[in-house]
Amino acid sequence: MYSMTINGEAVTTEDSFEILNPATGEVVGHAPNATKEHLDAAVEAASVAFKSLSAMPIEERQALCVAVAKVINDNAEDLAKLLTLEQGKPLNGLGSRWEIGAAGAWAGHTATLSLPMKTIQDNNEGTVELHRKPLGVVGSITPWNFPILILAWHVVPAICTGNTIIIKPSPYTPLTTLKLVSLLNEVLPKGVLNCISGDDKSVNLGSEMSAHDDIRKIVFTGSTETGKKVMVNSAETMKRLTLEMGGNDAGIVLPDVDAKTIAEGLFWGGFVNNGQTCAAIKRLYVHEDVYDDVCTELVNYTKNVVVGNGMNEESILGPMQNKMQFDKVCRLVEDAKTKGRVLLGGSPGEGLFYPPTIIADLDDSDPLVYEEQFGPALPIIKYSDIDDVIAKANDSQWGLGGSVWARDIQKARDIALRMETGTVWVNKHLALQPDAPFGGVKCSGQGTEFAQEGLEEYTDIQVISY
Ligand code: NAD
Repeated sequence: MYSMTINGEAVTTEDSFEILNPATGEVVGHAPNATKEHLDAAVEAASVAFKSLSAMPIEERQALCVAVAKVINDNAEDLAKLLTLEQGKPLNGLGSRWEIGAAGAWAGHTATLSLPMKTIQDNNEGTVELHRKPLGVVGSITPWNFPILILAWHVVPAICTGNTIIIKPSPYTPLTTLKLVSLLNEVLPKGVLNCISGDDKSVNLGSEMSAHDDIRKIVFTGSTETGKKVMVNSAETMKRLTLEMGGNDAGIVLPDVDAKTIAEGLFWGGFVNNGQTCAAIKRLYVHEDVYDDVCTELVNYTKNVVVGNGMNEESILGPMQNKMQFDKVCRLVEDAKTKGRVLLGGSPGEGLFYPPTIIADLDDSDPLVYEEQFGPALPIIKYSDIDDVIAKANDSQWGLGGSVWARDIQKARDIALRMETGTVWVNKHLALQPDAPFGGVKCSGQGTEFAQEGLEEYTDIQVISY
């Protein structure tokens, strides 16, 4: 059994749950099933550790973040293999090796950031200073699609600003997180980073964390439905919240594009991590002048992508991660087939494998267009009027990302400014970077991650005036 880490110690439980390899159905390992008492012990350890971490000079905390990055980088290959086994994503492509590498890079960049005191006023009438103070104990709740990259997004800014953490991974993919937290505890002071796991059955640890009296903030990445529960459960204790939730990103292709040139970017925008990505292209609007060409070139690119067991070096996409998500994609594609034109894929494979699927001639009344499919099935919608397509892109409860594909960059930028999303990319999608803030609007979330703006979310402001 893999161990949790509480106060720097390895902790197991009598009760455990199995983690299955999505490619084969075989058991990869067992994770501890924590109780409320384990959560309380982790919160207690983090509360004690907060006293010394918050008093540490920023340079020393930055050095801890550098050490975190080094542990991730030094153990990259082992972590990538374990991640592939439990998550399903391939070692190659934008898979496990990419994810672990990106986690190391994000940690390294965050280690360069700080929030120095700002002087707002300093004159004959007095001095006013703005200080950024760490919050205390932070609860991190992560999903199954990018468990380690999201760990880095939650944990490193928290440590950099002087907070201590309890991380709770998804029941589908806890093993790599349990392993990495155990390794990180070799370089972090005890109690700074604790990890508990559970199967969400008899105890829902995320819910308990959201309501816990001694946790000051929850940073949550997951579905909109669960994010709303986090808000409700944390209301009583007025927690700070950063919520990164679902999306239904639109890609808008303008009539001046060269279809062949953009096909690879469109593919990765839609199918990264098998489409199980918060900010993937989930609906593609293509102008009627280039509609047939874009459909043809996207299919030509996608049909050559190798799908297989992620441990095979040649695989570029793996299986879907879990049955719940697989069933959702099956349902949405079956429905879309009654109206749309299947250009590629369209029927489930063995086990949890679902081939990359492209369905044309749909519109905004189709569930594959307006629901979040979170899988390898991309709907294409023809449009003729730009104002109309912007209105359709914006007609969504979500507002995470979006993209515009065009030769005329200025025109694309003007359209981008009219989109109601946290990020808009031009001629690319999901090109996240650690120095650019990322977050959703509307039901895609609250708050922002990355860069200085992301760091600030782990602090309270205190003004001193004299
Ligand atoms: P999920 O909401 O089912 O689970 C996320 C986490 O919440 C898990 O750790 C789960 O155990 C925990 N949880 C379950 N019940 C809870 C409760 N009542 N209170 C608190 N926590 C609880 O999401 P998922 O299926 O793991 O992930 C897929 C979703 O995440 C998609 O909707 C996707 O768009 C979104 N996502 C968003 C981002 C982003 O940055 N915006 C990134 C990745 C995934």
